[in-house]
Amino acid sequence: MSPDTTKTAVVTGAARGIGAGVAVRLAADGFDVAVVDLDEGATAETVAAVKAQGRAALGVGLDVSDPDSVEAGVARIAEELGGPVVLVNNAGITRDNLLFKMSVEEWDQVMGVHLRGSFLMSRATQKFMVEQRWGRIVNLSSTSALGNRGQANYSTAKAGLQGFTRTLAVELGPFGVTVNAIAPGFIATAMTEATAHRLGMDFAAFQEQAAAHIPVRRVGEPADIAQAVSFFVDERSGFVNGQILYVSGGPTV
Ligand code: NAP
Repeated sequence: MSPDTTKTAVVTGAARGIGAGVAVRLAADGFDVAVVDLDEGATAETVAAVKAQGRAALGVGLDVSDPDSVEAGVARIAEELGGPVVLVNNAGITRDNLLFKMSVEEWDQVMGVHLRGSFLMSRATQKFMVEQRWGRIVNLSSTSALGNRGQANYSTAKAGLQGFTRTLAVELGPFGVTVNAIAPGFIATAMTEATAHRLGMDFAAFQEQAAAHIPVRRVGEPADIAQAVSFFVDERSGFVNGQILYVSGGPTV
């Protein structure tokens, strides 16, 4: 990418958690950042944090699973911030249940945000990357892709994102666009806090319990994932394409 090219990054689900950490890291790396989440009002804190890094930021309220919402939101980003060359498909939800209790709605909602959402956002933004002959897409998978009790929907979606990643890597690679995925383990965010509460556990105790089974003996934080995103997005990472990087403190045994 030439130095005078507009460098706009889009991070979905960036109002909080991993997405917020990634948005701020990409700003520190020199990108203007579109902070996307369901509710535009909720993006204010991340927008301020991006601006504090000296970069432009735009809070955009859109539903990644809705085609019209995605098209309108991406058009607004291109108009107000510049055509995006980086996309981080981070927006996510859980609707955990054992298979025999899982509703069709719980299945569809999770597929809608993770799979349909990543598809729609990638389709809408790739044209700017292909035009510039440079781009980076990073998808958020999960260690749950390997199988996790109570997460038939989420595990399937996160495994699906790995196939999606490898396929886009093949299709977009010829245009200078790399597509990779990060599969986080336990990261302390509102998502894992909600899981603790669902299991009737205090969040601190839940983290302590999880850390005991992680080789580095701690749970992850959003900055751990932002570090991996920064690597994939880096100009010098152009030969790294179609990879799934597990960022989980080591393999669990
Ligand atoms: P989080 O704290 O729950 O944040 C997710 C964000 O995504 C929320 O702000 C949420 O908005 C937003 N979102 C949900 N549905 C959306 C939609 N349809 N359109 C736009 N935004 C939407 O989650 P997190 O822990 O940071 O997780 C981020 C990503 O990492 C997810 O893909 C998750 O599956 C993945 N991951 C997390 C962990 C972990 O341990 N935390 C591990 C592996 C993978 P609302 O608040 O309005 O719902």
